[in-house]
Amino acid sequence: MTLEQLKNTIAAIEDYPKPGITFRDITPLLQNAEAFSACIDFFVERYIQQGITQVAAVEARGFIFGAAIAKALGCGLTLLRKPGKLPGNVITQRYQLEYGEDQLQMRSDSLKASDNVLIVDDLLATGGTVEAAAKLIKQTQARIHEAAFLVTLDGLPGEQKLQQQGLACYTLCR
Ligand code: 5GP
Repeated sequence: MTLEQLKNTIAAIEDYPKPGITFRDITPLLQNAEAFSACIDFFVERYIQQGITQVAAVEARGFIFGAAIAKALGCGLTLLRKPGKLPGNVITQRYQLEYGEDQLQMRSDSLKASDNVLIVDDLLATGGTVEAAAKLIKQTQARIHEAAFLVTLDGLPGEQKLQQQGLACYTLCR
């Protein structure tokens, strides 16, 4: 499967979740065994030789891709979750949404300074979510290798913003 064919399995849903918004729906990709497998293979090919020790995946759709990538790379999986979902000591990072704000949390014992971390989420839009993820990881002194996305929405400043902060970004589809 080519990247173009993979992209064609992602649906555009108009006026969801609100009028005027076009939502990129990844569920048809997940339901297509060949597409899901190819998607994970593309990521693994890029990262298999990079010494990744932990995949840090963002709730909730980032978990789907992050878990499969971590299994294939033979590394651990760190969960970056919405507030109140993780037991034990957590560190918290707030971030802005279009309207209002949200938070991401990570267990404070998840990462070591020696870790080489790959951040994974399904989609990059404004970059607020992964900016918060990177701030959490930086508190642990771990190294961030890159942030990987299935989709990056062109025409939004997310990718440029993250790159200006020194965070390399990689995407399969635009
Ligand atoms: P950002 O923080 O970059 O503005 O938004 C990215 C986050 O919102 C990701 O965690 C992603 O799951 C979610 N998101 C925003 N818009 C979409 C969309 O159109 N499709 C999907 N699948 N996720 C989206």
